[in-house]
Parts: sequence; structure tokens; C-alpha cells
Amino acid sequence: MINYTERITQLMHDVVTRIPALSFIDLREVLVFARHGRADAEGAFATCHCLTLPETEPGYYFWKDRQTGELTRRSEWFVTKTPEVRLGATRVKYLISFVLPRFCQQNLSRSWKSELYDDAEPWVAKLDTIVHELYHIDPLATGIRQFAADGARSTRTHAPEFYDNVAAMTRSYLRSRPDPEMLAFLQLDFAQLQSRYGGVVATTFRNFPSFPQRYMAPCETLSANEPEGVKIEPLKPFTQPPVYTERDLIVRRFTGRAALRQTA
Ligand SMILES: [Zn+2]
Repeated sequence: MINYTERITQLMHDVVTRIPALSFIDLREVLVFARHGRADAEGAFATCHCLTLPETEPGYYFWKDRQTGELTRRSEWFVTKTPEVRLGATRVKYLISFVLPRFCQQNLSRSWKSELYDDAEPWVAKLDTIVHELYHIDPLATGIRQFAADGARSTRTHAPEFYDNVAAMTRSYLRSRPDPEMLAFLQLDFAQLQSRYGGVVATTFRNFPSFPQRYMAPCETLSANEPEGVKIEPLKPFTQPPVYTERDLIVRRFTGRAALRQTA
């Protein structure tokens, strides 16, 4: 079976060595994992998740009486935190998720991206997405690199410059004559991958379909000094671990309809 996230990771290593603008990326601090998403449903092909965002200032939710405007209840104080992901001694700074099988079905001819590529092969849409997610890694390590959308492509979330830079890097990678073996898996759609390799597996987190995400943690010092008279709602207990390690990574088999846990 083909391990799809492993193949993407290998390809990313090749991309960052050939594209100078991405050479600052230390891929030991980047973890690629898969999420499930149907090809015929709307949604992202891939997402870059930042794990270095700082804890927020303490805050709370509140509810007011519609008529009187009076505070009726509020949540306990909380701070929003980012879970840690550690692989051995390394702290992971970014997660990049790919949505299977949707990502595998991406095709330039069905995409607005074709404006950015003259007569590139249809599967180059997938390479473009991989470069796009790497480009979200901020060289200043302050979070996710963004270019504020200026509305010119209002249905899209980034400025045109972002897409143009990604397409330029993708074309320059292809011109650098990478090993065709490295790219071969991108040329197959999901059904072709299944018949060629007998199945598609990928790295996921143990708590699939969940994965490390920002969460709210109660702020005990502030909650100890609550004023009288207002009803305090406790936060929902959080279900995700504050620290993930390699023990929380599980290879699952993606069937197109579901992701099944593989027994060793
Ligand atoms: Zn993006």
C-alpha cells in the first residue's frame, strides 16, 4: 500500500532543497497528516496549522438579558492554548493536513488555478497545493504567513500575490528537473492509487477525526475570586491531550468513504 503522507513528506524535502525561498523551512518541525473528506463535497484540499501561537489573555463568555441588558451569566475565566506536539526531542511547529480522497482528485483543468499555468499537466494542481501549504510557514516564525486578500479574487482567501508566488515556485521546481519517481504518485487519482498500490494509508492522530487544535483551559487564579451574584457556567471539559507525541500518531487506511485503523 502507498503511504500518502510519507510520499508528500519526501516530496516536501525535495521542494525545500530546490526552492531557495522555502529553504529556511526545517521539515523536522513540520508534521504531515491526513484528514478525511469526500471529493464531491466542498472544502479545503489541505491546511497549514500553526502550533506556535501564544496563549491568549484570560477572557470569558457572557450572556445578557435581552430586555434589560443585564449580565445574567458568564463562563468561568479561560485562556486559549495551543497543544504541543513533540516527536522525540523535537517540538513540531507546524502541522500540514491533506484531505483524502479530495486532494487526490485535484486537477488543473477543473480549477481556477489553470489561469496560473499555461499548459501544465493536470496533476500539477496537487504540487501547487503542496507548495502553497509550505509557503504558509512564516520565515519570522510568528504564525501563518498571510497576504491579506484585497478582494480581487473575492471567493478566495488570499491575495493574488500569494497564488502568483506559489505558481512561480511550483514552475521553478518543475524546471529544476526533479526525479520523476518523486512526483509519480501525484499523477494518479484516488481510484488509480488504490488499484496500483492495493490501498492508501496515511498518518493520522489517535483521536481521529480530531487532531491538535487550540483549546480553552480554565484560568484557576481568576476563577477563585469571582464576584457574587452572577451565575458562572463551567467550561466544557476539554477532551484533547495538551501534549501529543509519536505515540499519538496512527496510520489509517483511507478507503474513500472512511479511514480505518490498521492493525499491525
Ligand atoms: Zn492557504
